[in-house]
Amino acid sequence: MLNPDLITNAHALLASERANYMKLHPKSAELSVKANQHFLYGVPMHWMNDWGTPVPLFISHAEGAHFTCADGIDYTDFCLGDTGAMFGHSSAPVAKAIAAQASRGYTAMLPSTLAPDVGETLSDFFGLDYWQLATTATDANRFVLRWARAVTGRSKLLVFDGCYHGTIDDTEIDVVNGKTVNRASLLGQVYDLGLHTVAVPFNDLAAVEHELAKGDVAVLLTEPALTNCGMVLPHAGFIESLRALTTKYGTLLTLDETHTISTARGGWAKANSVTPDFLVVGKPIAGGLPAAAYGFSEAMAVRMKAAKDNAPAGHSGIGTTLSGNMMTLAAINATLRDTATEAAYLHMLALAAKLETQLNAAIRAYNLPWNISRMGARLELQFCTNPPSNAAEARAAQNDTIESAIHLYLLNRGVLLTPFHNMMLICPATTEADIAKLVRIFNEFLKDLLKGLR
Ligand code: PMP
Repeated sequence: MLNPDLITNAHALLASERANYMKLHPKSAELSVKANQHFLYGVPMHWMNDWGTPVPLFISHAEGAHFTCADGIDYTDFCLGDTGAMFGHSSAPVAKAIAAQASRGYTAMLPSTLAPDVGETLSDFFGLDYWQLATTATDANRFVLRWARAVTGRSKLLVFDGCYHGTIDDTEIDVVNGKTVNRASLLGQVYDLGLHTVAVPFNDLAAVEHELAKGDVAVLLTEPALTNCGMVLPHAGFIESLRALTTKYGTLLTLDETHTISTARGGWAKANSVTPDFLVVGKPIAGGLPAAAYGFSEAMAVRMKAAKDNAPAGHSGIGTTLSGNMMTLAAINATLRDTATEAAYLHMLALAAKLETQLNAAIRAYNLPWNISRMGARLELQFCTNPPSNAAEARAAQNDTIESAIHLYLLNRGVLLTPFHNMMLICPATTEADIAKLVRIFNEFLKDLLKGLR
């Protein structure tokens, strides 16, 4: 339970930071008026308007761990496109590969000569033998779900309460009074998603086994840690037990590593020697160009081919025209081989550990009942004493007012956090000075938040 006086202070801070933001960003305000003439809510994607800023922050340039806004202010970027730019904005090898491909064609509905190389790169990086490409992680999850149902002949999908796997219909659910129902915020959803999707609490093996034992679950889809409702880390052995249970009940296990690619080079599954039936990756694999991929074993490839070869010819419902285009292939190779190197990860993990220690020290110094969770290069600040075990606990710790106040306070001082929760990501170009800046301003924020309360 958060101190109500703290929330009153947060409200006051938020009001003064909103005024401060408007003073600092006249050009963004001007661009917002102009963009409103032809874009819904004045932004290319409506949710870009959901950030806590009074008007959207328009960006003119992004490079490494920094970007410059329309008003010429430099920011240290700890959002990094919510993982899309996790290997740094416009890294030199990716920029070079894109420039080289730019005069050689973008898309042709045929594999470019780079294709065999890219297959090898994905296999080396993530450790699975076979791959297919998609354009977004949403699509990759959707396609995996289709394959899983096709190869098992089962209909049900098992996920965890609080999951997010993109805008794939089947996973846009919540658990209300123990029942899996359509997420209340979904627009235009006409099917009852609870008919084929079941969600149970994360870190609850008994609930998982109860569902798997029914024998109708085609696939269990999860991230190694929930990263979209704050962050919920797996209890020791939880994902390993999911592997054992899914094998026991003939259900396929899909690990969505779109965010947990932050864990180590190759992702969480490789680092922890867990082999899923499908592995989904997206966001940063082509340096931030739209690209995603899903990997699987040779045994799964045999089952997939059997399902496809036995189906009538025609649309499979899997694949989109631009997926695996020539430009993307070039960018994937340059990202995974030359940017997301072992040395880059060593740097990211070391800085993230340092940031974790320093943020925890600030929280302790101000005696706040808050905590930091970390998965490799990814950190999350949550307003509860102990890290949450499931989405219900994570949700209970959320406070929109304090969260918005932190975000805007930092933003007005040149530091960007990930919106909609308190996530901080370190990229290969992040420096000691960048984290020192974040820690200094975070301490100043806490001092201001607690003014008159200590
Ligand atoms: N999987 C996870 C775990 C995600 O967090 C997201 C997006 N935040 C996606 C998939 C979907 O990615 P995209 O929006 O790029 O399709």
